[in-house]
Amino acid sequence: IGIKSPTTATETEKVIGQVIILKNITQFRELDLAKTNFIATISHELKTPISSIKMSLKLLRDERVGSVNPEQQKLLEHITEDSDRLLRITGELLNLAQVETGNIQLHCRQTLPKEIIQYAVQAIRFQAEQKQVKLETNIPNELPPVNSDLEKTAWVLVNFLSNAIRYSPEQASIIISAGYVTSASNRFVRFSVQDFGRGIDARYKDRIFDKFFQVPDADSIKGGTGLGLAISKEFITAQGGAIWVESELGEGSVFSFSLPVG
Ligand code: ADP
Repeated sequence: IGIKSPTTATETEKVIGQVIILKNITQFRELDLAKTNFIATISHELKTPISSIKMSLKLLRDERVGSVNPEQQKLLEHITEDSDRLLRITGELLNLAQVETGNIQLHCRQTLPKEIIQYAVQAIRFQAEQKQVKLETNIPNELPPVNSDLEKTAWVLVNFLSNAIRYSPEQASIIISAGYVTSASNRFVRFSVQDFGRGIDARYKDRIFDKFFQVPDADSIKGGTGLGLAISKEFITAQGGAIWVESELGEGSVFSFSLPVG
């Protein structure tokens, strides 16, 4: 039920009555939920065939079923890239459905920051190689474990890395770092991904974490859904953490999140 609250009177006005409008929005909610569930089902159904296409492509590229000439190899690489993109989009839609239904299921355990970073780097390696981007890591050895859902946190890091690669020129460097942050009452581990790509105009810095928002730009990079950062924000805040960006237009960006220790 949506309730529209009455406005308050000023000192010179007299209240002679109040109108409260009650509107039943249950039907809209149900429709919205049905739509979200539909998106989740379709995305889930798409994931299996795309994954199997990827497996077949790998067999072909590794010449396990016969030799492949360089031109064919290039084509296979393109198809692999597109399959990766499709998988990313279906993954984002599935995650969006979880977020929309307030259904984020966390499987938290004590996890070393190194493990989260290695998991993410492994997942993004192919995309980085395609653009000859150099991934550098700067992780102190003695970082304490965080109580975290490995897959969801690594997903956020993969999303940062995937954006960093897409918005950087070929052969650029990307730095993944982690650090221990303490305040009077809290202890956190901060994870950051720094790129030296096109950066983000200060006007849009807050809005890029909104659903479907993409920086309007004449030479904007094709693809993408504008969902990655919105889902990332939900995943991190659900774990008691914070997420933010520092960026200079034309210089690059540092995307970070922090997770509480223990
Ligand atoms: P997507 O990348 O699918 O468009 P995201 O939610 O991940 O969606 O990002 C939202 C927008 O933020 C992007 O469309 C882009 O305009 C901007 N953005 C994200 N990461 C970077 C980055 N590393 N450098 C420059 N712009 C970025």
